[in-house]
Amino acid sequence: MKTILSLFLVLALAASAAEKPFGLVLHGGAGVIERSSLSAEREAEYRAKLTEARDAGYAILERGGAALDAVIAVVTILEDSPLFNAGKGAVFTADGTCELDASVMDGRTQAAGAVAGVKHIKNPITLARSVMEKSGHVMLIGDGAERFAQQEGFTLVPNEYFQTEHRRQQLERAKKNAAAKKTAVLDREDHATRIARYGTVGCVALDRQGNLAAGTSTGGMSNKRFGRVGDAPIIGAGTYAHNATCAVSATGWGEFFIRVGVARDIAAQLEYRGTPLKTAAATTIAKVGALGGDGGVICIDKDGNIALPFNTAGMYRGYRVSTGAVGVEIFGDK
Ligand code: ASP
Repeated sequence: MKTILSLFLVLALAASAAEKPFGLVLHGGAGVIERSSLSAEREAEYRAKLTEARDAGYAILERGGAALDAVIAVVTILEDSPLFNAGKGAVFTADGTCELDASVMDGRTQAAGAVAGVKHIKNPITLARSVMEKSGHVMLIGDGAERFAQQEGFTLVPNEYFQTEHRRQQLERAKKNAAAKKTAVLDREDHATRIARYGTVGCVALDRQGNLAAGTSTGGMSNKRFGRVGDAPIIGAGTYAHNATCAVSATGWGEFFIRVGVARDIAAQLEYRGTPLKTAAATTIAKVGALGGDGGVICIDKDGNIALPFNTAGMYRGYRVSTGAVGVEIFGDK
């Protein structure tokens, strides 16, 4: 009897170990994304790319790969797609160039890496990873980041690689709006700017070993001026991961996300108060809203719970968790 009982116990333990949840969540930006402004064809393209990236990342996790590798794989696929405001297809600065920001954090070690204002790095997320693993620093900017990239054997691409006609038109519209209002400052009511804002990409993942990771990559905000850096490369604002709590990647009006310290604010609620992930994420997004900002976050916690709140009309997003949740959604009502 005793032997049967202990056998049962061993089997139960083995089963529960095998069933440790894993999964990921990704976003392709939050903003004014309404059904009326997205053609069926375009919507299908977004859904297909989000699905492709999600499943590529999930496959890595499923075969026992690291959360960090899944995050990099997902973000790289989205950076390579002109649909999103990251890598190819990034928004334009006021000077008509593309300047990219990205960051990554490993929840296992709390190591982090970030780059800001880079102009010739095809996949900024991979450079952020190199900064984390090889530079001895957390954040490198502009020319320095690109010198480091060359040292590490990255091939630099011309800035034109990132530029698309669609984004150039968005810049023209944003400039016209700003001129009509006689202000160069980004304006909450500036519809063109708000539409142009969406498209930042990010991913958070939990692997079978219980490790969390987060990564975010962006071209920033259309019409941004002289060296502006948003929240995406700021650890604790746009990106955060810690195995003890959760992994977070943000998208939205970066200035507000920096001021709230969004990603760390969510993790802190879990850490200090044991707040459930969904409540914590919603509370932090409400803080952004109270200041006048908008956007959203994707989060996954150490137990595989996910949360994807946003206070914009829509957010490009996808998720797949081993416990069953799976989807790709765009609008507020899915
Ligand atoms: N958060 C990004 C920034 O402010 C923009 C975005 O998420 O679309 O640079």
